[in-house]
Amino acid sequence: MDRLLSFAENRARVIDSIISEITSGLRLGCGKGCTYCCYGVPLWVRTVEAFHLLEALNKLPIKDRRVIASRLRRYEREYLEAAQAQGYTPESPVPEEALDVGKLGLICGLGMNEVPCPFLSEDGSCSVYEARPSMCRLTLFSDREVCRKDWENPLAFAWKSEIAPFIDRIKEEFYRRWNVELKKLQNIYPELDLSRLEGEMLFLPKHLRFDPVKKVFRIKAPYNP
Ligand code: SF4
Ligand code: SF4
Repeated sequence: MDRLLSFAENRARVIDSIISEITSGLRLGCGKGCTYCCYGVPLWVRTVEAFHLLEALNKLPIKDRRVIASRLRRYEREYLEAAQAQGYTPESPVPEEALDVGKLGLICGLGMNEVPCPFLSEDGSCSVYEARPSMCRLTLFSDREVCRKDWENPLAFAWKSEIAPFIDRIKEEFYRRWNVELKKLQNIYPELDLSRLEGEMLFLPKHLRFDPVKKVFRIKAPYNP
């Protein structure tokens, strides 16, 4: 577990450094308290990200863990209802679809934009910021106001014409570099199966459970090194 967490932290640092390089010179509207993109998020994460989140959650004060456990249950119920009403199957193991920006917009536009990510604190900050998954790290945009309009009404024209291509361009450049970095990380962590940690996606609310007796979160993942 120690090596897995070391990999998860190292991985997050490398991701941030690539993002910082590819966005240098770009004007970004993102910043603390800007949370429009934290609503209606489909919480599909990579296995390594699930373990990273688990570690961050279990470091939070117990009262915060309880609140998040309750929000996770609400999120799971509302997300599944909204997705199924549109014929979208959140259980489907299709990671590319789960992370597709257009699909995300579709789900958000169908009643999900009122459902906050369970990790969003009342003060507008992310309670697991250092361990947030790559989909959050890669959701960036230049104009906060355009972003607000789009997240509030994701089926509007601007969604596809402005935000999605912006994120897609960043992702394209990011993954080109990330694949190179991942090979370097595999050499540092030869005992870990990075293809499984990176390739297997989990719908988080289904795999993350709160133990009310010990007051800790636990995770059930197919690959648990
Ligand atoms: S992606 Fe948009 S909503 Fe999210 S932090 Fe950036 S500007 Fe704000
Ligand atoms: S994990 Fe954090 S950054 Fe990502 S959607 Fe949730 S609150 Fe927002």
